[in-house]
Amino acid sequence: MQGRRADGPPERLPRVVSGACGPREAPGSPTRQPRWGGPPEGSAAQPRRRVRASGGGAPRAVNNADGKATSQPLSLDLVRKAIISCERCPRLRDYCAQVAREKRRAFRDDVYWGKPVPGFGDPRARVLLVGLAPAAHGANRTGRVFTGDGGGGSGDFLMSALHRAGFANMPTSQHPHDGLQLRDAFIAAAVRCAPPGNKPTPEEVANCLPHLEAELGALPHVRIVVALGKIGFDAYLQLLKRQGVVVHPRPQFGHAEVRQLPNGQTLIGCYHPSRQNTNTGKLTAPMMDDVFEVVRRILRSGWRNRSKRCHV
Ligand code: SF4
Repeated sequence: MQGRRADGPPERLPRVVSGACGPREAPGSPTRQPRWGGPPEGSAAQPRRRVRASGGGAPRAVNNADGKATSQPLSLDLVRKAIISCERCPRLRDYCAQVAREKRRAFRDDVYWGKPVPGFGDPRARVLLVGLAPAAHGANRTGRVFTGDGGGGSGDFLMSALHRAGFANMPTSQHPHDGLQLRDAFIAAAVRCAPPGNKPTPEEVANCLPHLEAELGALPHVRIVVALGKIGFDAYLQLLKRQGVVVHPRPQFGHAEVRQLPNGQTLIGCYHPSRQNTNTGKLTAPMMDDVFEVVRRILRSGWRNRSKRCHV
């Protein structure tokens, strides 16, 4: 699978909601050579990267991780540091620290990460996935999003889909040193601290938006946002609103629903790969494949939205 482009081989066309603006070739769209991401996030070899203030579909006027307006996006490395040191939500910080202290029996020998979890993936990603929040004994333990929540957990389910679609070099996500690399994709979350019951409050989601904004600002090539679940979907729309991007009518969350946005990005809904969804059959592997086939098709076609009135 390694070396296979995410937008490489032709595939069958999955269900796509169509409307006023269909896929079209973008004249002069960049023929970019994707590559596998660098070493695992947080390793000493993680490259520092300064981000250009222009290019791609990401908004240029951003807030930094402290929520202060800035015209110059932070580097991904600085964003990561800001996330890790954040203490904005006392309830969540207390909960993460408590889980890290008490541990689950199966992981009693592990040193839990216990801090906010930054995004992970390819700094040149064109595809951003926005999940919900770290799992208490998954990412809150390992320090990497969608990592370590066990066999058959959301991390493996998602990673196997990304692997089949050519965005990941392996189909599992077990621990931060497992060699997993993403290509052309970056995974973030609406909330960076594990919430009790997987339920952050609206205030906590709002508190964490500057981190998503700063991360997106440091990913200048993002063209497609895949929202993994309604909370991630709503958080991204909230972020657009905060940036003054008017999306009318407001998109409704639905699996494999596609919406072109006035900022040039495409938003795709996807059920969250939680055990609750995958064990009940609400979300199946073919359904995940459908979403990433849409993503691949858009990347291949150079589909871009140039009309502020364009809805799908
Ligand atoms: S949830 Fe986000 S804003 Fe709140 S403490 Fe964690 S990183 Fe900070």
